[in-house]
Amino acid sequence: MTSSNSFNSNTAAIDGPLIDTHAHLDDRRLADGLSSVLDRARDAGVVAVVAVGVSHESSVRTVELSDQNAMIFAAIGIHPNHIAEAELGDWDRVVELARERRPKTVAIGETGLDRYWKNTPFADQEAAFDRHLDLARELDLPVIIHCRDCMKDIVDRLAARAKPIRGILHSFTGNWEEARTLLDFGLHISFAGQATFANKNLDSLRDAAILIPLDRLLVETDSPYLSPHPFRGRSNEPARVAVTAARIAELRGMKPVDFCHATTSNARELFRLDSFMKF
Ligand SMILES: [Zn+2]
Repeated sequence: MTSSNSFNSNTAAIDGPLIDTHAHLDDRRLADGLSSVLDRARDAGVVAVVAVGVSHESSVRTVELSDQNAMIFAAIGIHPNHIAEAELGDWDRVVELARERRPKTVAIGETGLDRYWKNTPFADQEAAFDRHLDLARELDLPVIIHCRDCMKDIVDRLAARAKPIRGILHSFTGNWEEARTLLDFGLHISFAGQATFANKNLDSLRDAAILIPLDRLLVETDSPYLSPHPFRGRSNEPARVAVTAARIAELRGMKPVDFCHATTSNARELFRLDSFMKF
């Protein structure tokens, strides 16, 4: 784990409030030290974290975490890269868990499509993606969409569905044209650590981060992955959503505090968190 001192010195300008809309809190790298992870998150201004499941087992754990911690909310689903290894009946069990309508289960996902990893045949990913979209619509919950190297597939698939689609394209790495299409579908767009990386090929992502209407923007860590600069390559955690927020606020020429309030209010509305939040 990183030293909290070096972290704090990099985020002193941000007091939140922030919501990390995507973190894999049931991952061992976070779950093993969860109370300190959450302490550091609170110190960085984080008021809520959406813990995102990637399998049936992981979804059960995210729901348990949401039961145990006031600041944690759960998203449940089977990640495209975990479809192939899912056991018979796992999807039915996810559906059953979702239909319990627990108040802190606030989204369906992580679902989506992935052409980078080859873990799951693409046709199986597409079928699973459709099932998640149907379930989210049935339960009127936002859907959390993963997209790696297949924006066109995602857009084509979503284009065929009824609109608006309530949900998030998470860890967005596309350009403004792609963002605009997703916004037209009704989606919100969430940025993770890539917004802070110096890579030239991410300039179009930064342009999108400037142009997306403020009321459709969200921030996340996708921890333990995608640590923002200067923590790149190290295990990520929800506190560092502040680093990404500070960078996007800077790109948009906004005061960090205004950016935090705006994106947090977007997340509260999308996940319907108002009854849980006292501010
Ligand atoms: Zn994820």
